[in-house]
Amino acid sequence: MTSSTQIQLVARPTGWPTHDDFRTVQVELPELAPGQVRVRNEFVSVDPYMRGRMNDVKSYTPPYVLGETMTGGAVGRVEASTAEGFAVGDVVLHQLGWRDVAQGDAGAFRVVPELPGVPLSAYLGILGMTGLTAYVGLLEIAGLREGDTVFVSGAAGAVGTAVGQIARLKGAGRVVGSAGTPEKVALLTERYGYDAAFSYKDGPVADQLAVAAPDGIDLYFDNVGGEHLEAALGAFNDFGRAALCGAISQYNETGPAVGPRNMSNMVTRSLMLKGFTIGNHLEHFPAFSRDMGAWLQAGEVVFDETVVDGIESSVDAFLDLMRGANTGKMVVRV
Ligand code: NDP
Repeated sequence: MTSSTQIQLVARPTGWPTHDDFRTVQVELPELAPGQVRVRNEFVSVDPYMRGRMNDVKSYTPPYVLGETMTGGAVGRVEASTAEGFAVGDVVLHQLGWRDVAQGDAGAFRVVPELPGVPLSAYLGILGMTGLTAYVGLLEIAGLREGDTVFVSGAAGAVGTAVGQIARLKGAGRVVGSAGTPEKVALLTERYGYDAAFSYKDGPVADQLAVAAPDGIDLYFDNVGGEHLEAALGAFNDFGRAALCGAISQYNETGPAVGPRNMSNMVTRSLMLKGFTIGNHLEHFPAFSRDMGAWLQAGEVVFDETVVDGIESSVDAFLDLMRGANTGKMVVRV
């Protein structure tokens, strides 16, 4: 009998989640039925969107079911298989989430190539949905143009570190980022291709943005919402464009949502703000994979991960992600 350690949501958090909202269980797995796969996970993903799924509200992904294991991206190796096309040792991606061993019908798993010198965790970040989100948001949703001054919030996170570098490679004129610590701000200019950066904790975003982008901005990649979005609306040049990717400043708030008070700038400056969820844009995956694979191989894009050890640390990793303890992609090493 194989045992699987799994993390389940048992209560819907109000505001910040706590450990009491989760439990760790041991599940005895049955023998494999025909056409099934057992996978020993190597990395599981913790992502901001999971906070939304902990609420009992209709969204683009259904809410988590209380008492069930937290689902989400994970990557591991096949340990046993009764399914055609899955050999022991194959690397597979799946969405079964926070567990050390995942088992089920082969349709839930996808074999991916093992790339020399690239950790498997990259499939949860730069080579996966995170990288695709940066690529599609910047190029397709906001429509980056050569010479644009680009502003990115959440710039030192998984999506943000990719956005800055892609903007640089695709001809942005100036790339400005905001993040939450001096260490992250330094990395933005030293490592991730940003021309200027500031900490949003050092003063009003609008004031700091005015210094970092004295000629205004043309494109805003919004990971944060709230004050950042208002500041971007104030800094836009005519015909500015924004990709609304996330609003993490609001995810754990219990009071009224904070939104921009200067929406009328959209009219007077002919702005375009467009939200997106990456699941609706998967047709760009082949082009993204080709471009990102080449950039990584050529060393033109770098990526970092913050790795937390142990499946039982998944809740801590998630909370740390929401508090900003990560640089680049936050993953749990099982
Ligand atoms: P990150 O790696 O960026 O991690 C989250 C970061 O958010 C933290 O590191 C923290 O960095 C920052 N943060 C937390 N609270 C605040 C706050 N109050 N104000 C400003 N920054 C804050 O996560 P991802 O790259 O995975 O996701 C980034 C954004 O993109 C999220 O909003 C997420 O929901 C969204 N997203 C959207 C997708 C889509 O399909 N639309 C797909 C994937 C992600 P710091 O230290 O700088 O505060």
